[in-house]
Amino acid sequence: MPNLFDGLPAEEPSARIGFARNRIDRRSEKRDDATVAAALAEPAARFYLFHGDKVMLRGTDPLFTVGEAANLGLQRAEAILLGWAKAGPRLAGVIPEAVALPEGAASETDLRGVATEAAVTPDHIGALAQARSLLNWHQRHRFCSVCGSPSAMKIGGYRRDCPACGAEHFPRTDPVVIMLTIDGDRCLLGRQQRFLPGMYSCLAGFLEPGETVEDAVRRETHEESGIKVGRVRYHASQPWPFPSSLMIGCHAEALSRDITRDEVELDDCRWFPRAEVRAMLAGTHPDGLKAPQPVAIAHHLIRFWAEAG
Ligand SMILES: [Zn+2]
Repeated sequence: MPNLFDGLPAEEPSARIGFARNRIDRRSEKRDDATVAAALAEPAARFYLFHGDKVMLRGTDPLFTVGEAANLGLQRAEAILLGWAKAGPRLAGVIPEAVALPEGAASETDLRGVATEAAVTPDHIGALAQARSLLNWHQRHRFCSVCGSPSAMKIGGYRRDCPACGAEHFPRTDPVVIMLTIDGDRCLLGRQQRFLPGMYSCLAGFLEPGETVEDAVRRETHEESGIKVGRVRYHASQPWPFPSSLMIGCHAEALSRDITRDEVELDDCRWFPRAEVRAMLAGTHPDGLKAPQPVAIAHHLIRFWAEAG
C-alpha cells in the first residue's frame, strides 16, 4: 500500500526560509502564570531585547542576562517567555524607544537586516521573529476588544485577560497567501513600486475571513493579474514578523493567459519563461532583472519551479 508521505523531500521546504528556523522548545502545554518567574530565576535565562522596533546586539550576540536587561530599563512585568533553548530559558522584552540606552550598551539593527545580512547566527532568527510578533501584539492590544477595559498579560505573554468582563484574548497570526502561478514553461511575476530596481516576485495577498487557502490564491491572482487559476498546491510557509503574518506559499495552475494588471498594486506583471527566471535567480539576466533574496518565501517558490523542469 503506498505511504501517504512517500516522495516528500527529507527536509521540509519551509525549513530553508528566513525566520522559519526556530529551535526553541515552546512547551506551550506547560505555560502558566508561574512559568515566567521560574524561568527568570534560572541563572541560564537570557533575553532577546528590542529598543523600540530595533533588535539589540553586542557584536553578533543578541542575548542579554536577566540583570543586564533590568539595567537597560526592561520592566520585568513586560517580559515574555519564548520557551527553552538547549542552554536555558529564552525570554524577550522591549525597552521603549523613549528610554535612552547607556553609551556603548548595544548596537541596534532592523529585524529585516538581521535576517538578510547574517547579523546573528541563523539559530537566533526564528526566535527573534517569534519575539517580535508577540511583543508587537502586546503593544497593540492593551485594551479588551469586548469592553474596552485595560487587559493584563498572562501565561508568559500568550494570553491577555480582561479583569472587567472576563474575556480572554490570544495572540493573532494573520495568514497571507503568496503564489507562483504557472502556465506550462512560464510563470507569472509582478513588480510593486517599492521593490528594488529590476526585482520581480510572486503575487500575494491577505486571506479573508471564511476563505480557504485555495480560494484566496485564486481570488488574489485574479484580482491582481486577471489570470484565472485552477488547481493549487501548497509548498511551504514562513513566519513574517511585520508584524505577525504567516506567508502560505503555493504553486497555482493558470487557466487563462491574458493579463489585466491591477494598476494600483502592480507596476508591471507578465509571464516569464523558465530560462529567463533561471537567469534572474543566477544573477545573469541580460537586463539585470532579479528574483527576491533567499530570505523570502517567494525566492523558494520560484526556485522550486525553475529547477523542477
Ligand atoms: Zn473586557
